[in-house]
Amino acid sequence: MRIKVDLNQTTYPRCILEMKRRFGDRIALRDKDGDMTYRALCTSSEQLGAYLLSQGIRPGEKVVLHLGNTRLFIQCLFALELIGALPVIVFSACREHEVFSIADTTEAAAYISFRSFKGFDCTETATRIADRIDSIRTLFFDDQLEALDLSGYALAPEQIADPSPEDPAYIVLSGGSTGIPKLIPKKQAATLWSAEKCAEACGLDETTRYLTAMPCAHYFHICGPGFMGAFLQGATDILCYSSLPSDIVSLIRQEKITETALVPSVASECIAYAKKHGNPKQMFESLRLVQLGGAMCTADVIHAVAEEMGCVPQQIYGMGEGLVYATYPQDSLDFILKYQGINTSAYDSVKVVDEAGNPVPDGEFGELIAKGPNIATAYYKNDEANRVKFTADGYYRTGDRVRLVEGKYLQVVGRIDDMINRAGEKIFPAELEMHLRQCSGVREAAVFGIPDPALGSRIAAFVICDEDTSGAAIRRELIAAGLASFKIPDDIFFKDAFPLTSVKKIDKHALKQEAEERIRHAEQETLQSFDHIGDPTERSVYTAWARALNTGELTGDCCFIELGGNSITAAAMLRELEQAHGISLELEDFYCADTLDAFCGLVKERIAHE
Ligand code: AMP
Repeated sequence: MRIKVDLNQTTYPRCILEMKRRFGDRIALRDKDGDMTYRALCTSSEQLGAYLLSQGIRPGEKVVLHLGNTRLFIQCLFALELIGALPVIVFSACREHEVFSIADTTEAAAYISFRSFKGFDCTETATRIADRIDSIRTLFFDDQLEALDLSGYALAPEQIADPSPEDPAYIVLSGGSTGIPKLIPKKQAATLWSAEKCAEACGLDETTRYLTAMPCAHYFHICGPGFMGAFLQGATDILCYSSLPSDIVSLIRQEKITETALVPSVASECIAYAKKHGNPKQMFESLRLVQLGGAMCTADVIHAVAEEMGCVPQQIYGMGEGLVYATYPQDSLDFILKYQGINTSAYDSVKVVDEAGNPVPDGEFGELIAKGPNIATAYYKNDEANRVKFTADGYYRTGDRVRLVEGKYLQVVGRIDDMINRAGEKIFPAELEMHLRQCSGVREAAVFGIPDPALGSRIAAFVICDEDTSGAAIRRELIAAGLASFKIPDDIFFKDAFPLTSVKKIDKHALKQEAEERIRHAEQETLQSFDHIGDPTERSVYTAWARALNTGELTGDCCFIELGGNSITAAAMLRELEQAHGISLELEDFYCADTLDAFCGLVKERIAHE
């Protein structure tokens, strides 16, 4: 019954026509406007294609597609494929700055935009983008397209595109929370083939009711297996417009969803919501499998999906650039807790390499690099990123630090570029985040480095806690757990919730800015707390210690080392005082006068003698 993808033959136009022929009256999708059969979806997409041709869109031209999770998104995608135009799929959360740059780089001929998004009227921004970019000839709004009477439009057979399986099907955006996303051209057959392999890994079949809960403009939700993987089975895709836990949970219950894909943070919010509002087991009764991907998934979330949702948790590791690893329904929970699974593509070549690019021995950590039928070989018009992200022999550098056990089982531990270099010691945030989550009361943790004049980078940790705790208590627990002293966070901040990026990953960039702001603020407060010290030398010594030790709680009898200081922070403190008072201070002096009072005496003595 299902459509079988052939890497040497299948293309979107062929697949769309085959879906219509094979699955005609089955329900292809359901959104806020109700059900739509395969026949209706494919016919309306053909009509929309004919309309777009009549509006001057020509085969080969690029069209920016900026829509939310509605049937129109899929109809536009199919319409553009059928007429041989190239959709440039942007996240609904992209704003003027990003859309402008993407439309400009791709020299888009048209822009299809929603009229309003999350209550904001986008008419003006969309019009401004279309006006400012010379290549854009036509701007279409979703409400205009939805209101069209397409009954008079039809595509003649010779108007239906017949691309080669190697031709680009569309351009998607790379993830990331900062800057303009990179543009990834995706191939016709390879994306469909990858959707088929992901659908196999999830056990999708014609009885599947797949929920597209996250933004469908993200490649994971188009083809990982996403709605295309569901369509290949003749299954039904239900589109959730909002990504809010309340909406996702009620759709899972009402629509008897069998499979869905969630980023771990949203999965955990859905479970918390269900627990608060009823019996999760009942609410999630229909679920067979939940894909957890897009970001590192904790053991807690995997357990919660297995126990509270009562279904199979699937670890799925993938990226817009195309590589996909997944666990399978028959894998044991132990395996799912430990590994991100195996490569879903038999034709990929993968390596784990060290900093010099040489393969590391089996089971050792390094960067994962890969090439294969569905893996990008270059970003669109981005020489700079291409030089950095691809090897000379065409491997994509994932930037992920991983190991492959027995040559095939993948374990991801974090991003290479997230590594914190604290005074020469290397710290991987994922490892520290795991230890933080094991501390009493801590539910979620996010760790990163921030610049520090003495250490190069200092370790900042944000935590969300269920119970009352303190930074000192967390540090004590980490030390008791046997964590190396250089891995203990320099700063621990508390928060009720983390900011998320447009694709619902923890926005570490925003957290980093907040940490820097909080540190500046705390420093000012600390310094003000020494205003009452009359003696200027003593005040400057207190200030230098406070800065080095990152605390304003200082008394005359306190000892630098006992407050967590070390030779590196001491050296920075000594340099600060040397510059302030024109004296010279050595580490040996400092060890002789180890309390704050004794050290103030030493500095005063130096000032008097030098
Ligand atoms: P994107 O470009 O948004 O598709 O993000 C791809 C990146 O997300 C990968 O390179 C990984 O860093 C991360 N990622 C995706 N899935 C997982 C996973 N299951 N576990 C850990 N990290 C993941």
